[in-house]
Amino acid sequence: MAYIEPAPIMDKENPLESMMERFNIAAEKLGLSDEVYSVLKNPAKQVIVSLPITMDNGKIQVFEGIRVIHSNILGPAKGGIRFAPDVHLDEVKALAAWMTWKCAVVDIPYGGGKGGVRCNPREMSKGEIERLVRAYTLAMIDVFGPDKDIPAPDMGTGPREMAWLMDEYSKAQGMTINAVVTGKPLVLGGSLGRTEATGRGVMVSAMAAMQKLKINPFQATCAVQGFGNVGSWAALLLEERGLKIVSVSDISGAYYNSNGINIQEAVAYRDTNNGTLEGFKGAEKLSDPGELLLLDVDVLVPAAVEDVITIHNVEKIKAKLIVEGANGPTSAKADAIINDKGIMAVPDILANAGGVTVSYFEWVQNRLGYKWTADRVNRRSDRIMKDAFDHVYQASQKYDVPMRIAAYIVAIDKVAKTYTYRGGF
Ligand code: GLU
Repeated sequence: MAYIEPAPIMDKENPLESMMERFNIAAEKLGLSDEVYSVLKNPAKQVIVSLPITMDNGKIQVFEGIRVIHSNILGPAKGGIRFAPDVHLDEVKALAAWMTWKCAVVDIPYGGGKGGVRCNPREMSKGEIERLVRAYTLAMIDVFGPDKDIPAPDMGTGPREMAWLMDEYSKAQGMTINAVVTGKPLVLGGSLGRTEATGRGVMVSAMAAMQKLKINPFQATCAVQGFGNVGSWAALLLEERGLKIVSVSDISGAYYNSNGINIQEAVAYRDTNNGTLEGFKGAEKLSDPGELLLLDVDVLVPAAVEDVITIHNVEKIKAKLIVEGANGPTSAKADAIINDKGIMAVPDILANAGGVTVSYFEWVQNRLGYKWTADRVNRRSDRIMKDAFDHVYQASQKYDVPMRIAAYIVAIDKVAKTYTYRGGF
């Protein structure tokens, strides 16, 4: 019987500490009481399970599964499930808290949660992944629920995994309950527009920020780190709005073309090339993928993983605007240097909230038993994203703080006020 050892945190900054550093600054600016501070600081629930799975070779392997509910003050917890080899509790705790702040920033009636399973889905068969999703769902049967905790996709999971989750949950309840999970395939009650929603929200945030910074999109250049769901949709939609996407990257490396990369071609190539850009001819491969972050572009979109903009490279960043498609791509220690350099950073909890916003629409449609058109979904999510941007921008002016701290202020203020009305024990 094999057991996967917990991943060491290595030289990565701890995402929970990064989250707390910003939370502390915003809480102080807001004058949050000690009582409410300690309620919002601690996750409401943390569940860790061992999942023994029969692998295709007949051997049993035990995987660790985590679900953290950071808060259910605004409503049922909401947040994705991450399948990755380096998932660890502190990371899931940070990601769960980010979901609380994210839902509050875009003003949707959810608390925050996040799940993770330490595994490498790239090295697992479809059957192994299916058994793992079903085992995880069953282990979390008392945690999940359309009015309790509503999972969704995150890194390493997608509509296929959400379908298995919905099916396993429904079987255990003896009836079909599609509102228990979002990001489902369309035929199972998924929403039109959900696939592109996070990338679309990144685009809306970037356009709003460019307007403030007086950057003309038709003369702007952009680099996008990550060419998964978020990065590729953000790149496509930004290209559609006139930006020249000079660089994109994925696990195979970073690609550069000073004349602009044809993103539709890159997406088509990826989709017929095992999901990667390896061998893509429309751009040259950079010798070091980290160079993408340091390119002389107007807009930089980190849309891959945590902690890629750190004290080790932030000094060398030349972009005027950073729009965070990933969760936690900038470490807290890099914030001050970004601010000193006069770069505007639209933070993750605002910029990538388009995904959970359309997840909310999916849940609403499931509960109504009705389907909205793509046009209705897009119009409503664009409006929510633009309103949230304006709200955070106003808070940044009012409190004289960068956009990141302003977003935390807006979020913490909302959750704290709600908590105060609801009261404790
Ligand atoms: N995993 C996505 C996020 O981090 C989406 C969560 C959801 O739709 O619930 O925002």
